[in-house]
Amino acid sequence: MTEEKKVEVSIVIPAYNEEESLHKLFDELWPVVENLGRSFEVIFINDGSRDATLSILRGFCEKRRGVRVIDLGANFGQHMAIMAGFDYARGEKIVTLDADLQNPPEEIPKLLKEMDEGHDVVGTYRVGRRDPIFRRAASKCVNKITNRIAKLHIQDYGCMLRGYDRRIIDIINESRETTTFIPALAQKFAVNPIEIPVAHRERELGESKYGLFQLIRLNFDLMTSFSLVPLQLVTMAGMLLSALSFLFLLYMFVRRLLLGVGTWQSFIEQAFEAAQFIVSGITLFALGIIGEYIGRIYREVSRRPRYAVRKVYEYEGNGE
Ligand code: UDP
Ligand code: MG
Repeated sequence: MTEEKKVEVSIVIPAYNEEESLHKLFDELWPVVENLGRSFEVIFINDGSRDATLSILRGFCEKRRGVRVIDLGANFGQHMAIMAGFDYARGEKIVTLDADLQNPPEEIPKLLKEMDEGHDVVGTYRVGRRDPIFRRAASKCVNKITNRIAKLHIQDYGCMLRGYDRRIIDIINESRETTTFIPALAQKFAVNPIEIPVAHRERELGESKYGLFQLIRLNFDLMTSFSLVPLQLVTMAGMLLSALSFLFLLYMFVRRLLLGVGTWQSFIEQAFEAAQFIVSGITLFALGIIGEYIGRIYREVSRRPRYAVRKVYEYEGNGE
């Protein structure tokens, strides 16, 4: 079935090993979308799950018209999974949502209302956020720094309950980069964005798919895809450190020359050691960052597809 019928609203939900949450999510989501009074589709992306996620999702599209399941061949990550959903979405307005029920589906009508009023990107920030305290403190910090560096104003990067107008989705679909952070990308193209508060729940079922390492990676993606500041910082830090070590050496030299502290021999030894430490620190740091960008360039030039679809499932019956 490939009717390229437009719908008013597409709901896009990535799912990676979410077998515990999906039934509850669907039971809460379905009444909400049915009562929107708009034509809609719900697109689930199975991001290479290794549990029963795919079979549960297929169950949904056997039961309900308007559910589609994009089954990716491997785990491509939350943002690439959403990208796959965007490529398939036919809606005039597109709403993204997490599968774990941390974003309550009841908030969807609120987002659509803002979009009706002409906002092309509706962001959200979580009030009463129910995550462990260290996650909250870390994201507060990250939100601030990222906004500064990427020159954006997003209150809460972590909240994926967001609404996008068709025009924005078309632009995102055209951006071929393979590492990105969707809310930031959308914000760059938004003409009239707005952010609204939404409720947030604790993850009740299943566990977070982001460990500390994945969170650091995600933030690195976010930084490096939206600015060159990390590179420039390294250059500046390098310059600063060189200047400082030069001043330090000068100070030692003057002390030796005028006050006669220590011997010339020991002065030279100390100076060498200090300089070596400083220089190797800078070099390592700089190499790391340069490597990061080169890695990205490599990935872009290899033009690998951002995701690979194995199969698309849709409702095939004729009821409902
Ligand atoms: N997710 C995904 N692929 C991944 C990791 C996560 O599709 O590689 C989905 C996951 O199923 C969920 C959403 O992205 O729907 C957010 O993930 P999670 O709730 O684990 O992140 P957290 O809320 O802890 O930041
Ligand atoms: Mg979550």
